[in-house]
Amino acid sequence: MRKVIALAGNPNVGKSTVFNHLTGLRQHTGNWAGKTVECVSGTCKRGSTVYEFVDLPGCYSLSSHSREEEIARDYICLEGPDAVVVVCDATCLERNLILLLQIMEITPKVVLCVNLLDEAKKKKIHVDLQKLSGELHIPVIGCSARSGEGVEQILDAIESLQEKSKEQTGIVHQACLESVDPFVKRARKLCERAVVYEKAEYDRKDRMLDCLFTGRVTGFLVLFLFLFGIFWITAAGANIPSAYLQKGAFWLEEKLIEGAVFLGISPAAYEPIICGAYRVLSWVVSVMLPPMAIFFPLFTLLEDFGYLPRVAFNLDKCFQKCRACGKQALTMCMGFGCNAVGVTGCRIIDSPRERMIAILTNSFVPCNGRFPTMLALLSLFFVGSTGAATDSVLAAVCLSFVILFGVGMTLLVSRILSGTILKGMPSAFTLELPPYRCPQVGRVLINSILNRTLYVLGRAVLVAAPAGLFIWVLANVQTKDVSILQHCVTFLDPFGRMIGLDGVILMAFILGMPANEIVLPIILMTYLCQGNLQDISDIYLIKQILTENGWTWLTALNTILFSLLHWPCGTTCLTIRKETGSVKWMALAILIPTGVGVFICFLNTTVVNFVTGML
Ligand code: GDP
Repeated sequence: MRKVIALAGNPNVGKSTVFNHLTGLRQHTGNWAGKTVECVSGTCKRGSTVYEFVDLPGCYSLSSHSREEEIARDYICLEGPDAVVVVCDATCLERNLILLLQIMEITPKVVLCVNLLDEAKKKKIHVDLQKLSGELHIPVIGCSARSGEGVEQILDAIESLQEKSKEQTGIVHQACLESVDPFVKRARKLCERAVVYEKAEYDRKDRMLDCLFTGRVTGFLVLFLFLFGIFWITAAGANIPSAYLQKGAFWLEEKLIEGAVFLGISPAAYEPIICGAYRVLSWVVSVMLPPMAIFFPLFTLLEDFGYLPRVAFNLDKCFQKCRACGKQALTMCMGFGCNAVGVTGCRIIDSPRERMIAILTNSFVPCNGRFPTMLALLSLFFVGSTGAATDSVLAAVCLSFVILFGVGMTLLVSRILSGTILKGMPSAFTLELPPYRCPQVGRVLINSILNRTLYVLGRAVLVAAPAGLFIWVLANVQTKDVSILQHCVTFLDPFGRMIGLDGVILMAFILGMPANEIVLPIILMTYLCQGNLQDISDIYLIKQILTENGWTWLTALNTILFSLLHWPCGTTCLTIRKETGSVKWMALAILIPTGVGVFICFLNTTVVNFVTGML
């Protein structure tokens, strides 16, 4: 037998956690509203019954004010699931019960799951589950989904639901859902009877933290400090593993060559593999992987703690001034991990106009694949690179400013777009500031390090190795005594120099389209193919290679800026096409950041050359 069970609830009540626990899936959990806009389903088996759980988007009511509400309401009304489990947060039950009461108007087969009982206990809030069950005439289960406590009982409760007819299901009830007032009143009455607050100021700590994190001045200060802190830990922590990985990779390269020579394999056969594919792969792993493996878990911890909605709250005014939606700050934060995820995340923005602005500007925040390039170049060219402790602090400060520059660009371009092709006024929205929750440090660390590491390694093998092979072939196949690579580089060079880069750098950005992680390794590889230098076993030799090929601090700065402001990677472009349903918008999403990047680099180069010419 198969039963379809819908999981409904307000955002951020632990619905995904319950869902994951029951189905064994790994749906994204995060401490902020609106992260799931689509329905996700998974199954679990008990006895002869297969339960298919459908995780509906989190919403506050069924009055269809937003896309999430519409999707949830339509599912419950039209699909007629066998039962609906409504997950509620025990620490703010009154607000949560409104949705439950509305759902009970549509279908009688409802189970109430009061989650976060552990949090409620800490705040000395007591919920009388039996009383609630008696008043509502439905099964009520209490649980702490994070630890899994009580979750299994949800299945018992579903089984205990009597086979009730489906006749009540349907749109007929739409009218009675329009007005929320009666549900609000009923929810308040229910809570007066079933919930006891032992401490009057049960959320004092949260309010104090909010004063600090969302204060007019302190909000921005803390935001900058968090940004700086994350980058500092990343910069300071990445160097050592990077150096070891690089040494190991270089050692292995030597051994591989020795082995190939020993086996009598001709250089024409092993060089493309070892000096091409293997070398780029090993650079991606040693230079790019450590910062990513440190940055991502730190960022996830902030997300788990509940800080990201505060960022959206702080930046809301700025986005409103640019006639865009404050929720764009959240999609921007998602872009830090991966721009493709950021673009998909734009679904949380209801107005199509504002959603498009958010999509078109998402690549102004560097993803995980780009910021290690920036960090490496900042450390090499602007921070002394002596390995002293102050170096990583300075690198972190510089990187924070680069990121803030990206945020500034997001705002500026959003304003320009909303004054031109995407004209209109900003829409109002409600953003829930969720309670702060102690992040699950161990789980986040293990999950994101493992996931990230595997993901990056997978991508490295899939993209970096073929790219390395491709470059090696380009560098070694000659036409008219000049390699194909050299032809391309010579062709791109004049344009590259105009914007303070060179042909090699531009070529690397073009070849790096499949994955931004490989840009810096391709630059190094191309220089090595052109010049005499053969191996690099030390991270600081990278600077030597670059300076020997004419790099100055200005080239490094322009490369950092261009890395921040250029076309999105291949995956992001495809995601944009899918989300907007049009090649035209995808083309615009490529043209806008590229145009801005070319302009900024050109301006930067002209001004610096002019000033240095004057001196
Ligand atoms: P959803 O938006 O309703 O899907 O909520 P999530 O499942 O993403 O959970 C939101 C946050 O609450 C996450 O940080 C979870 O780890 C946390 N969480 C979920 N259930 C519990 C619980 O029972 N106790 C505690 N302390 N935290 C929980």
